[in-house]
Amino acid sequence: MPVGKARTAMPGAMEPVVAIHGGAGDGVDASAEEEASIRAALEEALAAAADALGRGGEATDAVQAAVVVMESCELFNAGCGSALCADGSVEMSAAVMRSDRSAGAVAAVKHCEHPILAAAAVLDSPQVLMVGEAADALAASCGLEQRPSKYFITARQRARLHDRDTAPDHATVGAVCVDRRGRLAAATSTGGIRGQPPGRVGDSPIIGAGTWADAGVAVSCTGDGEVFVRSGAARQIAFEAGRGVPLAQAAERALGDVEELGGRGGLIAVDRGGRVAMPFVTRTMPRGTWRARAGTSIWPR
Ligand code: ASP
Repeated sequence: MPVGKARTAMPGAMEPVVAIHGGAGDGVDASAEEEASIRAALEEALAAAADALGRGGEATDAVQAAVVVMESCELFNAGCGSALCADGSVEMSAAVMRSDRSAGAVAAVKHCEHPILAAAAVLDSPQVLMVGEAADALAASCGLEQRPSKYFITARQRARLHDRDTAPDHATVGAVCVDRRGRLAAATSTGGIRGQPPGRVGDSPIIGAGTWADAGVAVSCTGDGEVFVRSGAARQIAFEAGRGVPLAQAAERALGDVEELGGRGGLIAVDRGGRVAMPFVTRTMPRGTWRARAGTSIWPR
């Protein structure tokens, strides 16, 4: 049986759907072994999301559960294994938003084991975006695990920082979900872009740019963050979908806009009816979906 398939359906309930991504990139250098590990991590992330829903959780719990798994896998650029800044440090950002339009985000955190949980802590506070040491401190005060810098800095990313020939890899992670009651949520987590100057923040924690959810759609983006910010990509999809443009078309148009501004990347989006769009214009974007009735599908490239 596919991972997490066939949970008991509630009469009249909608079919819950989860979609995840492991970043848009030009991953020509991913070995077969790495690709198998990426597939396994995506499966585990979808299973964690399905479990969260099966235990009565809502869409927000599902997207957080999926992202926590991917933040723990060093092949992704989030949490442990994040891309390194130019000075060899790690600065991570994350955001979560749900259909009631409550949102929480953190940027440039250095010690949160799971930046997505820190973003969720901000969602539960009066603020929307917290940065740097204050964001780490808020997470710590909520009892969230803090780690020393060396936990996040992997040998793999140290080698990549100095390897000018390695193809740009985004490998940011994200998840979107519509649950059986039609609630939507989106979550994105990233270490940013390899070699970025310390203090640089991309689109992932910017509500409306890299992450968005409302009563109609949930979106998580990956790619050239500055351009996604300048195009307001995630919010643009919601706006168009809200005006009746089919989700796939709205998603393609948003990516087209990003390309017109000179950027590249991909995104995942789900709407209230359970339709999923996962366009990307890079060579690869590892991704997967879980549907309560149809089970799990994974595309590791
Ligand atoms: N969009 C992210 C950023 O600009 C990078 C990524 O998608 O991997 O920080």
